[in-house]
Amino acid sequence: MDPKNSMILVVDDDALIRELLSSWLDHRGYGVKTAENGQQALEMHQQHGFDLILLDIMMPDMNGFDVLTALKAAGNTTPVVVMSALTDLKSVVTCIKLGAEDFLSKPIESELLWARINASLEKKHYRDAQQTWLEELNLLQQIDQELNTTLDRKTISGLTLQYGGQKTGALACCIGAVEGNRLQVRASQGIAADDLPVIPVDKQLRAVTQTAVPENGRLHPQANYRLTLPIFRNTIIRDMAIFDLAHPVPETTLRFLKRLAIHIAIAMHNAQLYADVQAANRAKSNFVAMVSHELKNPLTSIQSYTYLLRRQGNLLPEETRINYLGIINDGATRIHNLALELDDITQIETGQFRLKIEAVSLPEVLHNVVRLFEPQIEERQQELIVHVPETLPQVRADAKRLSQILTNLISNASKYTPESGRIQVSAQLVEGESGHQLQIALQDSGIGIRAADQARVFSQFFRADDELVTAVRGTGLGLNITKKLVELQGGEIGFISEHRQGSTFFFTLPIVAQETAVLTIA
Ligand code: ADP
Repeated sequence: MDPKNSMILVVDDDALIRELLSSWLDHRGYGVKTAENGQQALEMHQQHGFDLILLDIMMPDMNGFDVLTALKAAGNTTPVVVMSALTDLKSVVTCIKLGAEDFLSKPIESELLWARINASLEKKHYRDAQQTWLEELNLLQQIDQELNTTLDRKTISGLTLQYGGQKTGALACCIGAVEGNRLQVRASQGIAADDLPVIPVDKQLRAVTQTAVPENGRLHPQANYRLTLPIFRNTIIRDMAIFDLAHPVPETTLRFLKRLAIHIAIAMHNAQLYADVQAANRAKSNFVAMVSHELKNPLTSIQSYTYLLRRQGNLLPEETRINYLGIINDGATRIHNLALELDDITQIETGQFRLKIEAVSLPEVLHNVVRLFEPQIEERQQELIVHVPETLPQVRADAKRLSQILTNLISNASKYTPESGRIQVSAQLVEGESGHQLQIALQDSGIGIRAADQARVFSQFFRADDELVTAVRGTGLGLNITKKLVELQGGEIGFISEHRQGSTFFFTLPIVAQETAVLTIA
């Protein structure tokens, strides 16, 4: 223990002893003050709170026993080492009973003095540490009780600032989610939300840190230090609390904050799980509403037209009957397609989706898909151009699912491109992270997707709020399934789009290892 951190009070009516002890202690680097009587000692201790008191027993007016009695009554925990003549053992025993920690016999022998001082200060140090630890434990228990009453991230953030702010004496503080390289502030104290500066985030931070406050980005004009408290989930920093301080905090406070961060992380995690469950519930309700809506329309037309055929079938001209049957068939196809899409989603989400990965020729699969679209493309007077060299290497894919991906993307390109528009399919070899890949692109001159909608294009049930989209039938499931199919086959999917100009959707697939490709070609 560093003597510089300990303040000792020497209490003796003998000036010579006071002087001698204080020069010894001072020489060894201890902080030292002296009192010449009991009353003065009590007053000084109340004012300074010493780490150790060396107390003479025999003093006029207020003796050592009286000082010990008064200290005990005040609930004092500072160790007191009493000094007495060797012959006065009875008094020493009384002092120990009154709470003295140890004793030194006069004349004082220096080696014994250092031994007693060290032992007493060490005991005090451990007692203090234990006391702080117990207080922290109590506080954490209280915080836990409050955290357990909420599953709301804003309330948890408020509690973090309240307790963290109290413990650190912060002038201003804030907490928020880490988004990219910035803090998206959720709650703040001591600073208005409008005045919050941009707070950059160091994602490499592993524990609470105390640094000089950055020049730009200060939360309070008088702040000199900044405490940054990262809050982790699965080893990734999700949230961060910032406390700007006038003075640095001691190591014990940093330790407390580190433990607080663990409790906050658990509460945040629970809040996130709860939010996820709520979102899943909402998604399920939307899903049920969407499915029933999607079923209702075709079922209504099937019901109406079968009714008409049953009632008046014989009276209707052949052409009308065929037309009605076409509408019924259309409705049944819609229901069938919806059932297939829902089936795919269920299988992918429950992990039961099985792929038959093999060496597949893209031009071959594409050719078959394009053939199926010919009537639709012709009807809409669109132009479908295919630029796919036959010499491309084979891909590692499930032929049926590759066909489904191409069908979805060509279908969208045709659906969302006005009549006489142009659709182009191309493929090329690109260098991916894991070697060469085939990139397939579908470019259309269609209605495009607004920038504001682009982040949600692959979400389940997303359909743009655009009259040219709502005019066309759809469930908003196709691209979601397509993305999952591409990723399950080890590829990636993306797009670029400009509203009312057109879109290009592209995806990659791994190619067959070169030797195998050569073998297959041979
Ligand atoms: P659906 O076509 O059944 O609505 P998708 O999941 O295939 O569902 O597509 C989701 C949404 O993305 C569409 O509703 C549309 O708003 C937009 N979209 C998809 N492809 C295109 C495209 N090629 N051009 C413009 N918008 C598109």
